[in-house]
Amino acid sequence: MLEGCTPWPAATAERYRREGLWNGTDLGSLPRAWAEAYGNATALVAGDRRIGYTELADRVDRTAAGFVRRGVAPGDRIVLQLPNVPAFVEVAFALFRVGAKPVFSLPSHRANEIRHLCELSGASGYVVPGVFRGFDHTALALEMAAELPALRHVYAQGAAGSPEVVPLESVDADPAELPVNDPSDVAFFLLSGGTTALPKLIPRTHDDYAYQIRTVTTLAGLTTDDVYLAALPVEFNFTWGCPGVIGTLSAGGTVVLAQDPTADDCFRLIERERVTLTSVVPTVARLWLEEREWSDADLSSLKVLQIGGARLEPELAARVTPELGCRLQQVFGMAEGLLTMSRPDDDVESLLHTQGRPVSPADEVKIVDERGAEVPTGVTGELLTRGPYTLRGYYRAPEHNARAFTEDGFYRTGDLAALTPEGRLIIRGRLKDVIIRGGDKVAAGEVETHLLSCPEVVAAAVVPVPDEFLGERIYAFLVARPDHEDARSEGDGEAGPPALAELKAALHARGLADYKLPDRAEFVPDLPLTPLGKIDKKVLAAAAADPALPRRWTPAPTASETPAVPLPSVSRTQKG
Ligand code: AMP
Repeated sequence: MLEGCTPWPAATAERYRREGLWNGTDLGSLPRAWAEAYGNATALVAGDRRIGYTELADRVDRTAAGFVRRGVAPGDRIVLQLPNVPAFVEVAFALFRVGAKPVFSLPSHRANEIRHLCELSGASGYVVPGVFRGFDHTALALEMAAELPALRHVYAQGAAGSPEVVPLESVDADPAELPVNDPSDVAFFLLSGGTTALPKLIPRTHDDYAYQIRTVTTLAGLTTDDVYLAALPVEFNFTWGCPGVIGTLSAGGTVVLAQDPTADDCFRLIERERVTLTSVVPTVARLWLEEREWSDADLSSLKVLQIGGARLEPELAARVTPELGCRLQQVFGMAEGLLTMSRPDDDVESLLHTQGRPVSPADEVKIVDERGAEVPTGVTGELLTRGPYTLRGYYRAPEHNARAFTEDGFYRTGDLAALTPEGRLIIRGRLKDVIIRGGDKVAAGEVETHLLSCPEVVAAAVVPVPDEFLGERIYAFLVARPDHEDARSEGDGEAGPPALAELKAALHARGLADYKLPDRAEFVPDLPLTPLGKIDKKVLAAAAADPALPRRWTPAPTASETPAVPLPSVSRTQKG
């Protein structure tokens, strides 16, 4: 296994193999196997392009040979940042074939994220879409290549070709014999939703991901007649493999790539391509339900709508079947592994109020209290899990791994959950300091670090605030440097605390992806502390949700020993 990864213990791995869970699949071999099984049936649809299984396998073989010719070798890490285009699928599988490891990045990632991903993975290559949605990814890639000596190759879609940039289309050569991958080795890296300042890399092995795909594809009962709409970004685990893109292709169905998840685009595609299955986050589901009232699109082909990635309100869940005419499947999951899903025969109560059962009988889940002791059924605690497709360690993160896993290899999810007597999971909240804005996970620590880089800010705490459309938005509480505090109110317009727009501009200029920018910023005299002296985010989250609450924090119980020094009062909310 790649250095920096944590293998499953030998006895566990042996058991997974003996029980046939890990069956030695090499993900790189799949497109050719599919081509043999499904021939010229349509594998991918993107706009007017329709790509058959044989054509896909041929493209993968040629792209793999092209990468080898350009010096890409087994074990190399390549950051892959493409939108929902066929090239994403071709490049990912080509890299699997070569034994190189794609690092799945989002098109919305900017310098801040890309620098981190390249550095952490030691990437030697970076694949970008040229200019996408007005952003010049090639320019960013060149900037990164100039900064990072290990990053030797930039591949851009539609590039003119220059000494520094390889047009992605030119990564093409006559197919060559390539060594088969060790199925227990890492195939690719997904990104963690982030519990710490910057995303961690999640190594997914050929064996573990192939098992996940087989399990969820069987559960979904997918066949050659199924048509999956990739509405969310393909690099999300949800879209890529739950069963998503790979599951649908494994079953001989058709994958339709949507440019974005808007109801307009997606309804048109569902009608045109007779889509049977798709997966969205609750925010998108809400927009679709709203649009449905106005749209006369024919959605009758849609059999199942999977909703997951963030909390689904039961009221919203209840609207899916009556208003969209399809079955709802709740999905709870994480790029780290564990997936739970509702099943077709679930009673309505369970369907609306729980996140279903683990997809594999080999998934081990337990709910524990603060001391790590299991709690009784129905009681809320932290969800821990291990199993045949749940990681045993983040890549190159020994210190974080020591906290994120128990000694016996359970992953501490940071999610608060309870189990029903039937073994269904109810997600009740989070311990981890993450904001789920729409489908995007934003680590509070990362935003705080960037806010603290603003010279006017001496303290920053970022919390989620409930939002009707996005589920949660990002609310920043800030303490201004004393000399900036009252300056504006005293008439010195320039030196006061920065307005939200200025803060956002500053963070944007630092290369932070736009979806991580605060939606609100409020300057307060100080931040509330817990008895242990940590910032009390519970108090802040309550204050963010209720502007009427006082911004003078009640001292924590032991505060008499360590009194917080109140600064002169300045309190302002800025809306974005
Ligand atoms: P990611 O790995 O980016 O998919 O993020 C995984 C995290 O998203 C989980 O640990 C949960 O915090 C959250 N999540 C995923 N699905 C759900 C769901 N159905 N309900 C509530 N939270 C969810």
